[in-house]
Amino acid sequence: MLKASAILQGPGVTIVPPFDAMLEELLDECRVNLPKVDEDMVRRAFRLAYWAHRNDRRVSGEPYVTHPIAVARIVAQHIRLDDISVGAALLHDVVEDTAFSLEFIREEFGSTMGMLIDGLTKIGGVFSSRELGQAENVRKLMLSMAQDIRVILVKFADRLHNMQTIESLPRAKQLKAATETQMLYAPLAHRFGLQAIKNELEDLSLRILDRASYDEIVRGLKASRQERESYIRQFIGPLNARLVESGFEFHIYGRSKNVYSIFRKMKTQNKPLKEIYDVFAIRVVLKSAGRLGKEECWRVYSIITDLYKPLPERFRDFISVPKSNGYRSLHTTVLGPLGRRIEVQIRTQEMHEVAERGVAAHWKYKEGIGGSDARMDQLLQWVRDLMENPDPEQATEFVQEFNLNLYTEEIYVFTPKGDLRTLPSGATPIDFAFQIHTDIGYQCIGAKVNGKMVPLSHVLKSGDQVEIITSKKKTPNPDWIKFVVTHKARSRIRHWINVKRREAVSKGRGLWEKKARRAKLEVTESELLRYASKLRYTNVGQMFYEIASGLLDVSDLVNLVRTGSTKNEEEPETPDRPIRDFRESARESGQQALLINGERLAGVAVAYASCCNPIPGDAVFGYASRAGTINIHRTGCRNASNLLVNHPDRIHACDWSRQKDVQFIVGLRVRGEDRVGIVNDLTTVISRNLKTNIQSITVDTEDGIFEGTIVLFVSDLAHLQRLIRRLKNVKGVHGVYRFEE
Ligand code: MN
Repeated sequence: MLKASAILQGPGVTIVPPFDAMLEELLDECRVNLPKVDEDMVRRAFRLAYWAHRNDRRVSGEPYVTHPIAVARIVAQHIRLDDISVGAALLHDVVEDTAFSLEFIREEFGSTMGMLIDGLTKIGGVFSSRELGQAENVRKLMLSMAQDIRVILVKFADRLHNMQTIESLPRAKQLKAATETQMLYAPLAHRFGLQAIKNELEDLSLRILDRASYDEIVRGLKASRQERESYIRQFIGPLNARLVESGFEFHIYGRSKNVYSIFRKMKTQNKPLKEIYDVFAIRVVLKSAGRLGKEECWRVYSIITDLYKPLPERFRDFISVPKSNGYRSLHTTVLGPLGRRIEVQIRTQEMHEVAERGVAAHWKYKEGIGGSDARMDQLLQWVRDLMENPDPEQATEFVQEFNLNLYTEEIYVFTPKGDLRTLPSGATPIDFAFQIHTDIGYQCIGAKVNGKMVPLSHVLKSGDQVEIITSKKKTPNPDWIKFVVTHKARSRIRHWINVKRREAVSKGRGLWEKKARRAKLEVTESELLRYASKLRYTNVGQMFYEIASGLLDVSDLVNLVRTGSTKNEEEPETPDRPIRDFRESARESGQQALLINGERLAGVAVAYASCCNPIPGDAVFGYASRAGTINIHRTGCRNASNLLVNHPDRIHACDWSRQKDVQFIVGLRVRGEDRVGIVNDLTTVISRNLKTNIQSITVDTEDGIFEGTIVLFVSDLAHLQRLIRRLKNVKGVHGVYRFEE
């Protein structure tokens, strides 16, 4: 091997075209975007990466070093942090994939670089080991970034480039990476305020997970582009004139939302693209900073609302009360030409930097000011909160909750003393209590909102003042778990339930041992397990728990040990609900509609998962069960992330073939006003207009509100969407949703 000095300084290594030009481009980007650049260090890191990866290739066949170079460019261009993180991006795969050690990096590049590369190598390892549950991954991720935020920022860039070049991977690996990106990286990027990177990550994963929807939206946006741009000009024109007249220095433009957020809108509102009007927002970015900047934002707001009528309920002041990822801006929705609702965002350049680059922008400012940055501290505190995590058994659930907490909108409530607290929307007084202090949560017996007593399941709104009433004697109610939304409340309640459960199990065991001693029975632990399973318990602990809680009489167990039989052994199994039969038959007949890995396979048993009930047209994948069946799930199924990430070797790419005579089961929920004849109208629309077979309809009405559940058979997604649109047109119907299960 060459000496270190020869590699790092030359002349032992010659960087050949086009890589020499790439190095100069990277240095240019550093000079433009970073506060200061140690060019010598970047050159040495580049040379080392170039040399260390000289024999490696990517799956696509390109020289491997193109990857660390691309990651370094993302860091320099989009994250714009500092020169060390650019160097770390260049070296991020060196220790893991080549013969160079961490010690070598530390000696040549110093201890900070050593720490960053160590962190990056460990995160990489976490994601390649499949045995660990996802929660464990998240925890490790958190740990490394609690140490130095730059580790996670470089990791985002790494992931972004891997997603940009995902085409060359086999389909099963694409699905895994895209799911992981959607579940983990995009929400985290959002939490760190890296809006631009989050948007791109989301779009790239949607493109893999649901190509048809992605293409449809991209095509639709392209087709409507001219119309959109001329509308934006029409909207901006008079506003621009007024702002110039008033002497502001500013930039104004219209900006399309990312494909994924449009996709989510179409899903939640169940509307085709052409009915989604807010695919873009108007943005005014002011040059001025500090207090003047803030004042000018309000003056701009006032000018906008002179020109266009605002919808007051859509106004948001994120300047006085920033989002917890640091986002600041004024948002208002106004009625533009043709009566269209247009969202306008008003912010200063400084706020804009934070909006686009989040924590990375703070990091730079922090260096200037010196000392600690409050926003950064808040973020690291959030990381520490997440670290106090329940046991690994609840791995998947943890990740799902984690996701929910990251994406949901936030509300702002006040303590009785007037302190502001941020909670996810949907939060209840219990969430609030646990956020204040664990003990307050545990001892909570009641709550007042704006001075009035409310049930503990009451959903809080922004602006509420919340007071918690506690009692030292009170303990948590396990039912709380059903309505809390924050991770902290949920994990603390679950922790308490587990402690109580363990206490009950040992109490139950005590009761049994006392009886057994008296009856002079000697039973080993493995015999106990056999008796437990005879009594239909999955483990001994469960049996003891039920003894302690009085659900099982301990003398029943004694009798069983003595005589070998129990009186309720002959109890028949509960029969399956009839609906399952229909579902089975639909599944069987649907077999031929599916292509697995591009082929119509005969003799392979296919089952359509009842957790998400896929129908032709849905983006799907196949999962080989242990029994040998291929289970078909929607890529958006709530179980999908678990399967895709933890068992990539069992994933099969699946597609629908064109076959129209097969019927699939699907469930719809219909809400609306309760009026005479509505059920009749709904069934008429379904059976007459579209020749659809209904399996069942159930209806609930309360206080003039109608809620119906319709289970029916459709041939594919287009059929279903047509049906949903027609049902929505029935008089009195407010909403129609597809539901799972
Ligand atoms: Mn990499």
